[in-house]
Amino acid sequence: MAIRYCKRCGKDTEHRELIKQKPSKYGKSKKEHFKAFLEGFFGGIASPVGASLDLIDRYVICTECGLKTLENYGDEFL
Ligand SMILES: [Zn+2]
Repeated sequence: MAIRYCKRCGKDTEHRELIKQKPSKYGKSKKEHFKAFLEGFFGGIASPVGASLDLIDRYVICTECGLKTLENYGDEFL
């Protein structure tokens, strides 16, 4: 839970995080996904959730109004 400014509420509110995996550009098979993960890993950009940075979308959601904001560049992944 994090306190952030919400545009819709017009004030600082509590937000929760949502992480979604993007559709992979490497194809749909498990083997292809594993390859994509390894490429991310050896590129030094593997994240704690096990997906490379360019394969996930990270959102913060206002717990008061439900406004969802895309926020892909969180510093906890760097
Ligand atoms: Zn809000």
